[in-house]
Amino acid sequence: MTHVITSLCVRDRGCIEVCPVECIIPGQAADGFPMMYIDPDTCIDCGACVPECPFGAIYPEDEVPAAYTAKGGEFINKVGLTGHYEATNHHGKAIVLETTRQLAAGETVDLTPDIKANSDFFTSGSGYAAKDSDQGS
Ligand code: SF4
Ligand code: SF4
Repeated sequence: MTHVITSLCVRDRGCIEVCPVECIIPGQAADGFPMMYIDPDTCIDCGACVPECPFGAIYPEDEVPAAYTAKGGEFINKVGLTGHYEATNHHGKAIVLETTRQLAAGETVDLTPDIKANSDFFTSGSGYAAKDSDQGS
């Protein structure tokens, strides 16, 4: 199995450094991968990244919710969305995203398509080549 970063990820980067096998890689938003991704072949399912995410974006693969119920106000981050998000990441650097939408309280969202998006990043996206190329958001 693996853990999966879902589209509740807004590139805060808090999870990356705690991974003992260094398998959390930043996507490159310009290439259509606007969040962080976990290599399913390398993840050892230790769970260390889960409490580090202030947005509750990381789940074991078999617990990714098909009907996530929004608290209200959180952002979802996906290719095709056009909302603007600005914040400061875990390292004090600016995050600017143009691929977001703010969720309404009680709205339900299927996060399971993010399982394939995670593995796609390593098969058809930048994968590990992006590891050190994105030191900003
Ligand atoms: S800590 Fe959460 S929001 Fe930040 S990069 Fe990791 S998964 Fe994304
Ligand atoms: S579960 Fe453990 S090995 Fe897998 S991505 Fe998170 S910190 Fe890394």
